[in-house]
Amino acid sequence: LLLTDIKQARDVANVAGRILHELSNAFVLGTYQIFIKASIGVSLYPSDGEDIDTLIKNADTAMYHAKNQGRNNYQFYVDSVKVTTSERRLILGTDLRGALEREELILYYQPQLDINTEKIIGTEALIRWLHPDFGLVSPTEFIPLAEDNGLIEPITKWVLRTACAQNMAWQAAGFPPMRVAVNVSNLFFEQRKVVETMSQVLKDTGMAPHYLEIELMESALMHNEEETIRELLQLKAMGVRVAIDDFGTGYSSLACLKCFPLDALKIDRSFVKDISTDRDSATITAAIITMAHSLQLNVIAEGVETEQQLTFLRAQGCDEMQGYLFSQPIPSSDIIQFLPAGSL
Ligand code: C2E
Ligand code: MG
Ligand code: MG
Repeated sequence: LLLTDIKQARDVANVAGRILHELSNAFVLGTYQIFIKASIGVSLYPSDGEDIDTLIKNADTAMYHAKNQGRNNYQFYVDSVKVTTSERRLILGTDLRGALEREELILYYQPQLDINTEKIIGTEALIRWLHPDFGLVSPTEFIPLAEDNGLIEPITKWVLRTACAQNMAWQAAGFPPMRVAVNVSNLFFEQRKVVETMSQVLKDTGMAPHYLEIELMESALMHNEEETIRELLQLKAMGVRVAIDDFGTGYSSLACLKCFPLDALKIDRSFVKDISTDRDSATITAAIITMAHSLQLNVIAEGVETEQQLTFLRAQGCDEMQGYLFSQPIPSSDIIQFLPAGSL
């Protein structure tokens, strides 16, 4: 439908609304009543394209968005490249509300390996959002929005449940049991809901607690120390493992680390990235490994991309690794290729 004589976008919206309304009446064909609904995509000249092909292509994209929004509605084309950062933030913030229900959130898994045997010992669950217009959106972009919008609780619960259920599905398929690590944001941890949520999820999925690891940011330890210790002791009593993510970036007092009942440190990617080229990064990494071991903590290096990095980390006695050298985060169905044959 080509509409001319358009003064503002609202004129188009009115027409689209009228079309939907007209279609909502039944069409009578002989003795039959036929119902038709429409998904309408709108593109505007010249902002969404200056030639007919671009305009139709963009209207088509908008139409798919309308279908995604449950059909029987109209959507304007949103140029995901052209929207400003603040517009994008606004759109994502609004759309995030329904993302769980629309099943747009997905978990990818990145293998974690024993650094010596190079056998997979677990996975880290990493969330992604498949947005209908923007494609895959990174958690670094939408997790902060979830924290602002009060959505971090349902999302964290969904992640925990999905990751544990997936891990149990691999076990049920006959693969040897392994760990799954889940990231927990500071806000959720500070709401003191972790213990309750974990025990519920473990109960519902039937997963043994020692196969679950939660990754906390270093900064999560720095507020309210006493309460944090109490919380961590409860997790320990449950048998859940606790790792500190991005270790080395959070300025936590090293002396204080021993006060917290932890299981593992994950060396931040920024150190690993430069270990084979920069002496300071190499020294810091070696020191973290030595210190962690003296505190009886396991050490995982994240972001391992090269053989040189792997060789250095191995020589320093690092325990585990994950990174693109072995595998990027991948959908659950692709993990199976890395799993050793199980009992089936
Ligand atoms: P993180 O937990 O430190 O995860 C590691 C990030 O490094 C992931 O980015 C991963 O894809 C990336 N990575 C892994 N190996 C390599 C490598 O060899 N090279 C490079 N360049 N990058 C590598 P991603 O998936 O974009 O996640 C970013 C951050 O978002 C995570 O950092 C984590 O803090 C947060 N996040 C992810 N999933 C969740 C979640 O379910 N809940 C919460 N609260 N935060 C999450
Ligand atoms: Mg992590
Ligand atoms: Mg990390």
